[in-house]
Amino acid sequence: MPIYATRPDDLIVIAGAGGFIGGALTRHFHQRGFTRIRAIDRKPLHEWHQRVEGVEELSLDLSEKPNAIRAVEGAAEVYNFAADMGGMGFIERFRVECLRSILINTHLIEAAWMAGARRYFFSSSACAYNTGLQQDANVRGLKESDAYPAMAERGYGWEKLLSEMFCQEYWAERGLETHVARFHNIYGPMGTWFGGREKAPAAICRKAIEAKDAGNLAIEIWGDGTQTRSFCFIDDCIAGVDKIMHCERLIATPVNLGSTELISVDGLVTMVEQIAGVKLERRYDLTAPKGVAGRNSDNTFIREVLGWEPSTPLRVGMERTYEWIARQYAERKAGRRVVEDAMRASSKRFEKVA
Ligand code: NAD
Repeated sequence: MPIYATRPDDLIVIAGAGGFIGGALTRHFHQRGFTRIRAIDRKPLHEWHQRVEGVEELSLDLSEKPNAIRAVEGAAEVYNFAADMGGMGFIERFRVECLRSILINTHLIEAAWMAGARRYFFSSSACAYNTGLQQDANVRGLKESDAYPAMAERGYGWEKLLSEMFCQEYWAERGLETHVARFHNIYGPMGTWFGGREKAPAAICRKAIEAKDAGNLAIEIWGDGTQTRSFCFIDDCIAGVDKIMHCERLIATPVNLGSTELISVDGLVTMVEQIAGVKLERRYDLTAPKGVAGRNSDNTFIREVLGWEPSTPLRVGMERTYEWIARQYAERKAGRRVVEDAMRASSKRFEKVA
């Protein structure tokens, strides 16, 4: 049970709401009947993944302190999803960009505390875990205590670990109620599917669709295909964030939010082939970024605390994701404007740096 029950007219602030998870959470709270939601993102509004009617929308760079202060004015709850991030191709190549996201959380948590917010949520990542424990594809699930002794993913993972610590110390020293979830590869409709920031599930769907469309039935796979991961469907992620934020036992206590259904990249390609109804010739790019050898979520703790864990079977989530990307692809090809501006703009920024 939470310390304070949230009321429907409490102001909920969602940072990074123009992105994948923040956009989905905005819709979730709107559908739950919350009447005062403030959604914020650095991107101009027409580039947001989702726009939700009746929600206050602000385009602000939250790495600037005055903007962070403006963002949380009057907030009861603050959710921080704002970060410069992407799949392995992005986080291995742009470590400075990833590290600089520390500015967002640093200003936002201070501003939330100063503004008297009741709760603060930070979206951490499985990349915060010790990479030394992820050298084998047959990895055991990572449990929360595996983050220390620390050897996080360079750049992105260290930013997450340090921002987690901010959350813990703002609770310990200043009494701001904070909550932290370590996401394990969130995927689903409305996610980034091209442009350089997309993750494996979306990238594989897109490549299969492109191959079918071009009549060139081949696929390039990053690494040797043996790397293993678990993937968590967006609906489970959103349900989990809501539960974690409102659980007293999870104050200042990072918890995994991921699926335990482990699959290799080759296995994921096979699944997409089945969904797409094609057989693809596999070309392995051994020089491409591939991340750790194996990574899975240990859900013992979340099950014990919430009596709940993500449960959407990967096949079900991938069918919905494939279908959505195929529709986006077709509309884009037909020259219609689709929910892709965000990705196009992200990829422009990405190309500028590359
Ligand atoms: P996303 O890239 O779709 O969304 C992040 C949003 O933050 C973007 O819209 C971006 O414009 C915005 N942003 C970046 N810098 C900003 C700034 N200075 N001010 C305001 N907005 C800014 O990513 P996502 O998949 O929705 O991820 C949300 C959060 O969850 C991130 O913190 C990410 O690190 C974390 N996470 C995601 C995954 C995943 O698999 N998607 C896994 C682990 C952790």
